[in-house]
Amino acid sequence: MPQTRSIDGVVFSSQHCEKRNSPRGTDTKMKHLFSPWRSAYIKTFNERRHTSGCLFCRILKGKGKKADTTNLIVWRGKFCFVVMNRYPYNSGHLLIVPYRHISSFVKLSPEEHSEIMIATGNCIQALEYISKPQGFNFGANLGRTAGAGIDKHVHFHLVPRWNGDTNFMPVLSDVKLISENMNTLRAKLSQKLNMVK
Ligand SMILES: [Zn+2]
Repeated sequence: MPQTRSIDGVVFSSQHCEKRNSPRGTDTKMKHLFSPWRSAYIKTFNERRHTSGCLFCRILKGKGKKADTTNLIVWRGKFCFVVMNRYPYNSGHLLIVPYRHISSFVKLSPEEHSEIMIATGNCIQALEYISKPQGFNFGANLGRTAGAGIDKHVHFHLVPRWNGDTNFMPVLSDVKLISENMNTLRAKLSQKLNMVK
């Protein structure tokens, strides 16, 4: 079991470090680091090969409960919506997204900023009620250089965290299990979030 620690939401794992001999003696160099945003970012590249346009704008065009269920949308507000990340870092990894196709964080309107923050708070409460996480990572990658997979449509990640959850790759390898859990969790989140609307 690798040793792990998290600094500002970035998870460092000892299995991804290597010891090297340097002229000054043995030191430890970080080969890779994992973060929730990075995992989602890589997956979105695979998606883009098969689709065109903005993923968020595309799923928003779906109408009705059935479309939202298929697209994993859990809540629609006045200025933003909440969707589950199809390639989650952790169970319950949510994306809070303004309706407006806009890349700039600073150009979001006060109404958009406000509703995004309120929706994030509601998501935290819903996840705490349903999944009882012990912490959360919340943030955004602004720009491709910063790791944004969909850099033209600003969005925010909310990732629930549990002690010892950092060894996530074996979980992600079982696609069927994740898929079933996501549908169940989507239904629970949607019910809870729409109660507080
Ligand atoms: Zn868009």
